[in-house]
Amino acid sequence: MASLFEHYLATSEQIASRLWLDATGERVRGLLLQRMPGSTDADAGTWTRAVSAIDAAVEPFDASDAHVLLAALFRDHDVRAFRARAARFACSCSRDRVAGALKMLGKAEVESILAEQGSVGVNCEFCNRRYDLGAEEARALFAVPRVGSVHELSS
Ligand SMILES: [Zn+2]
Repeated sequence: MASLFEHYLATSEQIASRLWLDATGERVRGLLLQRMPGSTDADAGTWTRAVSAIDAAVEPFDASDAHVLLAALFRDHDVRAFRARAARFACSCSRDRVAGALKMLGKAEVESILAEQGSVGVNCEFCNRRYDLGAEEARALFAVPRVGSVHELSS
């Protein structure tokens, strides 16, 4: 899981990152180390030493307090900690965004999917939420609004 997250950060944020995870009983803890944006090759040694220091720690998660851990790992450095924030999960996907993505995909491609599968299913790769659009709903994305249409009256 840590290597997947590191890969995600390297490809999406393009920031070198390392993540150490530990799970005991009902508790999961992690330590995320990221190179600062804009760091240079001259800073590479600092990055390497920081990764090595954490890797070399026998049990980096023995410390019950993150500040104690940081002070122990980097006792020769000026370590500053930011105020802790509670982690929460959030995803910005929505049915409207999926509709927008299908519109960009194009009517021909959506029709091809409908011909093959009868409906259009989209999985959000971030939160794994599934969006299913039936044929009518999928085709409605490409319906041209009728302006000034003439209503025929039957007699
Ligand atoms: Zn999502």
